[in-house]
Amino acid sequence: MRAKQLGNIWRERLRYFEGRQEALVSTIREFVEIESPSDAKPAADRMSQFLAAKFEALGGRAHIHRVKDFGDNLQIDFPGREKVKPVLLLGHFDTVYPLGTLQTMPCHAADGRLYGPGVLDMKSGIALMLYVIEALQSWHAGLPRPVTVFLVSDEEVGSSSSRKITESLAKESAAVLVLEPAAGPRGAVKTARKGVGEYKLTVQGVAAHAGLDPGKGHSAIVELARQISALSKLNDLQRGISVNAGVIRGGTRTNVIAAEATAEIDVRIKLAKQAVMLDRKLRSLKPFDKHCKLTVEGGVNRMPMERNAGVVALYKKAVVVAKQLDWKLEEASVGGGSDGNFTAGLGVPTLDGLGGVGSGAHAAHEHIVISELPRRALLLAGMIESV
Ligand SMILES: [Zn+2]
Repeated sequence: MRAKQLGNIWRERLRYFEGRQEALVSTIREFVEIESPSDAKPAADRMSQFLAAKFEALGGRAHIHRVKDFGDNLQIDFPGREKVKPVLLLGHFDTVYPLGTLQTMPCHAADGRLYGPGVLDMKSGIALMLYVIEALQSWHAGLPRPVTVFLVSDEEVGSSSSRKITESLAKESAAVLVLEPAAGPRGAVKTARKGVGEYKLTVQGVAAHAGLDPGKGHSAIVELARQISALSKLNDLQRGISVNAGVIRGGTRTNVIAAEATAEIDVRIKLAKQAVMLDRKLRSLKPFDKHCKLTVEGGVNRMPMERNAGVVALYKKAVVVAKQLDWKLEEASVGGGSDGNFTAGLGVPTLDGLGGVGSGAHAAHEHIVISELPRRALLLAGMIESV
């Protein structure tokens, strides 16, 4: 009997969001049509202000954290009836797309999908927060518990301006729900993310005229090539370690033996303890040619989000919520990092990938599946209630 009543409530709630699907899509479109690349402060600030007004219209209190080099980070606090710790809804409004991208990649709907720069990663996630808060307010005559929304401006470039704030808000929260895109077409939530690091290897060689004095030179390029080959041996995909020299530069002219060459290296790790080991290996690289000098800079920026007990407990709650809708919610472990890595790293229960379902993040075909939106909204609402 009770299960049946519960089922009816959830069916009603699903209808509530289905009835608002069109409005939700037009809000997402509004967000996408305000371009907000990480490195364009005036544009990103416009987005931050626009979002502040949207959340304030629902009764939230906005707190703008001023930032010099990126858009201003935006915190909105919503009071709740119960005097318990807030749930932190975490996201970012910066995108990887430069200003003007809308001209070649306009926001548009086709075949049940909404396309546009940042639509999946993660402007639809922000719109979900907005509509879910509104829904909870109307279902409960006010939010049942406090909710803090934190939207950062620099997630796509490492979160240097926002990380400290994210961490301090997380410490005051009962749980962190990250509205980054879901994983895969079935909308899995993310219960593990790899840690991410970036290194730069610089080789100083000895320059010489390639024609007159070839014997006197020690090519930085040749040395770098050998180092890259050595680096590739650090890959251990089975244990979740990957090392990729993704950008190389070096040399000045064809007739000069190169004095300098650099490689920018992306590293991914599955476990926190792998960071130290990998860091040591990278820093102890030795030159093959003794006349060349190596310098290694950088480090691991986001530690892995490990599938710890807090993460698993939240996932189990999400499974229960989804079950009310006859939905078998899956979990996924992914290679990309997010700000959820920071909060999970502090031991605060964190569930990621609660945002839109789609594909093509950071690519020309980035889109969300429109019909998935009501279910995503319902999942988020249920999580805020049950954490
Ligand atoms: Zn993202």
